[in-house]
Amino acid sequence: MRIAIGGIYHESNTFFSQPMTMERFAEKDLHFGEGIMTHWRGTSSEIGGFIEGGQQYKFELIPTVMAWGMPSGSLTDETFESLSQALLSRIEEAKPLDGVLLSLHGAMVATSYAGADGEILRRVRKAVGAGVPLVVTLDYHANMTQEMVRWPDAIIGYDTYPHIDQAERGLEAAHVMHRVLQEGLQPKLALARRPLLPHILRQLTGKPPMSDAIALAHELERRPEIVSVSVAAGFPYCDVPDAGFSVFAVAHNDAEAALQAANQVADAVWKRRAEFQMSLPLAEEAVRQALDGKSGLTVLVDVGDNLGAGTPGDGTVLLAELLKQGAQESLVLFCDPAAVAAAVEAGVRQRVRLKVGGKIDRHHGEPVEIEGVVRTISDGIYRNIGPMRDGVQDDQGRTVVVDTSGVLVVLTERRMPMWNLQQLRALGIEPTRLRIVVVKAAIAYRAAYEPITHRIIEVDTPGLAAADVHRFKYQHLKRPIYPLDAI
Ligand SMILES: [Zn+2]
Repeated sequence: MRIAIGGIYHESNTFFSQPMTMERFAEKDLHFGEGIMTHWRGTSSEIGGFIEGGQQYKFELIPTVMAWGMPSGSLTDETFESLSQALLSRIEEAKPLDGVLLSLHGAMVATSYAGADGEILRRVRKAVGAGVPLVVTLDYHANMTQEMVRWPDAIIGYDTYPHIDQAERGLEAAHVMHRVLQEGLQPKLALARRPLLPHILRQLTGKPPMSDAIALAHELERRPEIVSVSVAAGFPYCDVPDAGFSVFAVAHNDAEAALQAANQVADAVWKRRAEFQMSLPLAEEAVRQALDGKSGLTVLVDVGDNLGAGTPGDGTVLLAELLKQGAQESLVLFCDPAAVAAAVEAGVRQRVRLKVGGKIDRHHGEPVEIEGVVRTISDGIYRNIGPMRDGVQDDQGRTVVVDTSGVLVVLTERRMPMWNLQQLRALGIEPTRLRIVVVKAAIAYRAAYEPITHRIIEVDTPGLAAADVHRFKYQHLKRPIYPLDAI
């Protein structure tokens, strides 16, 4: 069986002014043909799962294009069209095909397409024709549209946030493909949307209320006619009509059963919508709490500058507060290429005075002046160990550590979320021995940091991933939607 694999994967924060370009995809993971196999085989990723499934079910895999970009602003039309063209031309060349497995995010936006994933799916369907099964995996933050469920035969979404089940879901998609091709499975796909933006920190799948929704989805999956039920929390930093919560389900030859299962989970969440909201302390109060003398590591979560949600990653609000309140044994990691260049020029063991952060836009605080010694200069390349992105190599660009005798300021050339402890260990920093670490994140950091952390303080910082959605001016989002509107 000849199965094409590939994907165009991006979470687009439409409020972020920096567009997503081919160069930025190339900085992360952009591969074609056999290069995909070398890069992704054996990794904790959807493609890793497709490859494993391909071996298990004896597919002849035809790798096309896999573009995986760091979350940021929307794709330029040029970027969208060239990736789409690359995918479609390789699919054309690979014909005749018995199936297509695609890894998409579900919250990708291009200048001309609010629902860029739906447009990719429409084009792929047109290219392969009606009879060829198309099975897709999506991130848990997908903003689902009717267009997205119209073209594929089945969609499998993540069950976890922090996301640690990408390989499993990729394998599951391959399994569904196998059942379609060999066992006569006739998947029917249905979508149930609700006008809800769950608070980003209430999207955590390991704790109620969301863990109850995931458990219900799994319970429904035990019904013989149900193939899969997926919860999509939605991505609120995306000003598109269909941003928000949904559930999608796949059933064997029974669209009604699929819709009923999706509705059941969606209704259960909708009923408890007030529980999917929360409020957080501001920076000053949060840092005071962190400095109250308790032992062990405290993680301060800079939710407003959550890099994993496509923010600049140079927010200074918590750094300024840590310096003001005289924090010791603390660490903040920034993206600031200009400051990296200045520190590299000065060299190791040299004292530098730098203005760091707050440079990309006006939403994440002012630049902050720091003075300290350049301790480390690194190439910024490390291979992840542990639950998230295990085996995947990351490259955050040249990286320097500036010791300000209180706060270690780690400066990177590229935007890189704190998803893995190797990021610090590769620099000779042992995170378990720090008192305070600031993570520019919402949930994803937990996979790495929760096991070593004594206390987590989530902070209501300003920024393009602010926890409080009332801070944003939405222009395209369908209204009413909870909690922006009382429903
Ligand atoms: Zn996600």
